[in-house]
Amino acid sequence: MEGHVKTFDAVIHRNAAYSNFFVEKREYRRWYRRPDIHPTAVGVWMCMDGRCSPDVFGMPPGVLEFWRNGGCLFDLGWLGFQPSFKDWYLHARKNGRRCLVVLVDHFSGSDPKKLGCAAHSCDDAAARLATWAQVEDLWSDFEEDDGTRNLYAISCGLDTDTDTLVFRKRKGGQVFDLAKAWHFTERDLAQALGDFYADELPQEIVRDIVPWASGNILRSRNIEASGRPPQGHGESVIAVGRGLDWFGMNEALVIGPFSPDFEEMVAVAARIVLHNIEEGVVGQGKGAVLLAAAPFHPCEGNPGRRMASRKAEHFARVAEKVVRRATPDLVPYLHCAVGIVDNDTRRLRIERHNDLQTII
Ligand SMILES: [Zn+2]
Repeated sequence: MEGHVKTFDAVIHRNAAYSNFFVEKREYRRWYRRPDIHPTAVGVWMCMDGRCSPDVFGMPPGVLEFWRNGGCLFDLGWLGFQPSFKDWYLHARKNGRRCLVVLVDHFSGSDPKKLGCAAHSCDDAAARLATWAQVEDLWSDFEEDDGTRNLYAISCGLDTDTDTLVFRKRKGGQVFDLAKAWHFTERDLAQALGDFYADELPQEIVRDIVPWASGNILRSRNIEASGRPPQGHGESVIAVGRGLDWFGMNEALVIGPFSPDFEEMVAVAARIVLHNIEEGVVGQGKGAVLLAAAPFHPCEGNPGRRMASRKAEHFARVAEKVVRRATPDLVPYLHCAVGIVDNDTRRLRIERHNDLQTII
């Protein structure tokens, strides 16, 4: 039992630290989101892989909105995904902002065949093609009758060796690799991105790319300075649901509950975590955690909290069943936690937690 609690404790600790920082940055977020300061709401579609951590953007918490699924595979036709995305889009529009969706696939610059995206069998061309096709769909879906648009989309590659982003144009195959921009000032960066996207994006959208492109440069310079070797999987947490943007680098596989292949995504994540334990990347005594969570708005009172709790419990039951079936060898290491996340503070409230072996 003692051994199993350690990853769980780390999860609680990580969330508490993030939540404190999130609350501290409330006024900053309010200022940042003013349409006259940053007229673009930025949403990120990203792989569930723990190496695709929101940390790579180097932004204060809550500024960017994340959706996570294996392989950065999304479809606006999915029943659970469309309402979530539409809420975000309409909320931004109501506040006088336009939207930019950034689709992030990932690869390893040093060892693409081994350290790439598991959902695309480490085929980085397939991963790129998948994000490109979704970008094209968004461009076509969000064109208004008069040819204008309030939503733009771009794709980026993430080199998980150094956490560096590579911007890609929609047409012509040109790339802008931030690894080549490490010594740019923010002004140089704004100029370079402006030139790069001149015929694809309005300049005010490009200006709202600069803060997180600049955050990413700082991040990758720090990673380089720390001498971190190219990283494989290291996750000890399978996190399912929403409100889970607070996990750090390589801590958790985060699966949004959107895809019709949700169960398959959970099975892939469970195999990765089991592999991490068997290979000794995650100490056996540390244990693994299956966390299911759903966010709630405190203004919705008890009914809102209870409904979030029902949702999280539902995700947990589905995911537990998948783990028992797909990776029975993981069960002895797995601690299951169900929680709800306060949307105003991002604080996780654990509703129940138990070793998976215990039938409750
Ligand atoms: Zn991936």
